[in-house]
Amino acid sequence: MRRLRRVKIIATLGPASVEKTVIAGLCRAGADVFRINMSHTDHPGLAAYVRMIREIEAETGRAIGILVDLQGPKLRIGGFVEGAVHLRKGDHFVLDADPAPGDASRVQLPHPEILSALKVDDTVLIDDGKVRLHVVETSHDTARAVVDVGGRISNRKGVSLPDTEIPITSMTVKDRSDLEAALREGVDWVAISFVQRPEDVLEVKKIAGARALIMAKIEKPQAIARLDEVIDVADALMVARGDLGVEVPLEKVPGLQKRITRSARRLGKPVVVATQMLESMILAPLPTRAEVSDVATAVYEGADAVMLSAESAAGQYPIEAVATMSRIAEEVETDAVYRSIINAQRNAAPNPTAADAIAVAARDVAETLDSKAICAWTASGATALRIARERPKSPILALTPKRDTARRLALVWGVHALETQDARDVEDMVKRACVNSAREGFSEPGDRIIIVAGMPFGSPGATNMVRIAIVGDDCAES
Ligand code: PEP
Repeated sequence: MRRLRRVKIIATLGPASVEKTVIAGLCRAGADVFRINMSHTDHPGLAAYVRMIREIEAETGRAIGILVDLQGPKLRIGGFVEGAVHLRKGDHFVLDADPAPGDASRVQLPHPEILSALKVDDTVLIDDGKVRLHVVETSHDTARAVVDVGGRISNRKGVSLPDTEIPITSMTVKDRSDLEAALREGVDWVAISFVQRPEDVLEVKKIAGARALIMAKIEKPQAIARLDEVIDVADALMVARGDLGVEVPLEKVPGLQKRITRSARRLGKPVVVATQMLESMILAPLPTRAEVSDVATAVYEGADAVMLSAESAAGQYPIEAVATMSRIAEEVETDAVYRSIINAQRNAAPNPTAADAIAVAARDVAETLDSKAICAWTASGATALRIARERPKSPILALTPKRDTARRLALVWGVHALETQDARDVEDMVKRACVNSAREGFSEPGDRIIIVAGMPFGSPGATNMVRIAIVGDDCAES
């Protein structure tokens, strides 16, 4: 099942897509990776999703990626005597450690380490930023604040602290248990929420080891301040525009999206643009013009993947949303200016290796000869990633002996991954690259393809060969 676009689509699963027939429909419509959001999924639910996705994968013969998104330390206020209060501009309001139900003068913030980290002038946002306060006085377990933007706040609403470095890791007890469950299920990617520092990513990587790749969600100013360090340790990034748009002024989000996407592309890490991409399709069969433009912008920018959240998880038109996203991407990628925009963002690898040089050479040769595909023999996926970093015109066919690698590459721009036995020798490597490119619909007899591999075979990090091959007549029937 070959896609006609390079950018990948991630569809979040939820009540609207809990049936296997719907998940299969999402896959047919264009979903390459499924996201399971642990804020709304328990462990039996996770196991059921993974089982259905793997069945669909076996039925379609196409490697599908599974991304588990950990909830992270979502801060919340306690409850109120009357369930809610209304705060007005200029009111004083106290956040404290007292579990007694709150009123219009105070409420509990049940995170002692946060209370002691708050400083005078720090901003406190409640309920996705609808109510805004700033701190005027602190003690070790109390913060007095003044209301800048008033409104109604009710029991257990979320709290965001854009100015405060939170002295806890991005992993809660629930996250640890969800991570273990995800790793037991053999998922491919794990996303960490509210990353602030590289250490947050390293902590999860230490637990996951080689069992899953780690995606850092960029949604806090603290992570943006250390962006290159975070990218350096993460396997991929997500521009998590939902919480990012609470933590920073909304008008800064588009610029940050560009900065994060370009930095990730420069450093060769996959990057996902997420949240509210086709929001109106939760309730309507057609998106707004602005939403179409938003998806198109991410595709022009060369993002590896665009993501649907509630549109596919809880909306009335999940399959239509995926199909719409896919059509927008296909249209953008055939637009005359797309290639020049993609090429303009191309940078040399910061510390180029021999494998980076081979990836550049493969792109150049493919472009010069107008090759139908670049076939990369890859065990870990690193060779395919390096070629994807170059954003070549030709599709990338990744041939790998590892099923995990094929599934992980489902997230990566331009890569169509196939699980196949490692090549025995050069002849076998060329022959099977030609056969698979023809069988997967990338080439026909007489077409030229480019093959990238490492010799000796099976030794990681040995990418050192570019070869031009002509697909033979015998390949089509194989
Ligand atoms: C986001 O904040 O944009 C995001 C993707 O995370 P979540 O859906 O968990 O809020």
